[in-house]
Amino acid sequence: MSITGDFPPQPATLERAAVIDAAAIRHNVRTIASYVHPAKVMVAVKAEGYGHGALTSAQAALDAGADWLGTAHVSEALALREAGIEAPILAWLHTRGTDFGRAISEHIDLGISGWEIHPVAEAAESLQRPARVHLKVDTGLGRNGCTIEDWPELLRIAANYQERGLISIEGIFTHLAVADEPDRRETDAQLDLYRHALEVAQEHRIVPDLRHVANTPAALSRPDAHFDMVRVGVGVFGQSPFADRTTEDLGLRPAMELRTSVANVKRVPAGQGISYGLTHRVDQPTTLALIPMGYADGIPRVAVHAPVCINGRRYQSVGRVAMDQFVVDLAELDTEVTVGDEVVIFGGDSGIEAAEWAAAAGTNNYEIITRIGERVPRVIVDSEIPPLPGTAADHDGTPLTGQGLS
Ligand SMILES: *Cc1c(COP(=O)(O)O)cnc(C)c1O
Repeated sequence: MSITGDFPPQPATLERAAVIDAAAIRHNVRTIASYVHPAKVMVAVKAEGYGHGALTSAQAALDAGADWLGTAHVSEALALREAGIEAPILAWLHTRGTDFGRAISEHIDLGISGWEIHPVAEAAESLQRPARVHLKVDTGLGRNGCTIEDWPELLRIAANYQERGLISIEGIFTHLAVADEPDRRETDAQLDLYRHALEVAQEHRIVPDLRHVANTPAALSRPDAHFDMVRVGVGVFGQSPFADRTTEDLGLRPAMELRTSVANVKRVPAGQGISYGLTHRVDQPTTLALIPMGYADGIPRVAVHAPVCINGRRYQSVGRVAMDQFVVDLAELDTEVTVGDEVVIFGGDSGIEAAEWAAAAGTNNYEIITRIGERVPRVIVDSEIPPLPGTAADHDGTPLTGQGLS
């Protein structure tokens, strides 16, 4: 605690790390696949695999038997192809700038909500090769997808392009709005409308092999939404989509552990203000620990009283999160906590769920894991592969040194 004090030698710890356990991703894919069997599993690896690394996630998912990968953008799908991923990939969110030609050349399936059908067919014509498409119908989410009013017209156009050999209609899909709240009836209405859209498609002699609707919450709570395939993201990363169920309740394992070490420890008197805005003052003498991660690393600026695990014990953040750091009140004067001690923000053995940070920040766990910044190295580990003798990895495979940094 003293400024001149000697510190015991520390292992060469990374300053910050998001430790990604490939074995957890595999476990989660297998668990979800067993819930939805015999439906196929598409794993959404958009947004850098929800912050876990797109390639790491894709590879782990495929190793565990995932059938498909999903991305929002064609550019994300192309990056996976460039990295050598050969599995089927669907990309569903396009702009006028989207390179449909490259998507077709690289065997990337395209979600079609409306206008895209024409440039996709044009690209297919100039390549002399049919585009594989999945038609998307909006059954209530109000985002992408063809409205039910325009659906017959889209089907007519698609059937025509298909007859001309320019497209091949592989799937019909929709996306659910409130599946994370299983009691809400809007999901029933969406499923009714989806089944109606399938009937209308059949009247246009469009009967694709892949009907897909369910995201993670529907995969886990609505067997009637499984159809031929589910599209799952958050559950694969070991996050619960439900407010009242933890990752563990669902038989899943968090794939990301966010960790760093204590950057400073100091005693302060009662009344000490904490961080910008002095929005918090301690009401008695206490000890503060400084955590060297901030909003540039993806820690939400608005989070207050968020949990942090130091040396296996839980503490709370106080005051505003700054760009590079935030403060934890250790709430004791004679603390054992010292500079260099291990800090887990969520995941791992900390018992802290990303969902708790979400609650502290008024958001959801999806955002917490996806927003972890580029300044935080992703360290890929595999808790199912025993460490080689002589390498510094603890019992759950987490490296204590920088080994495995990728
Ligand atoms: C992101 C996404 C999913 C996966 O949703 P989760 O709730 O993370 O399982 C499925 N479908 C579409 C269209 C998506 O954009």
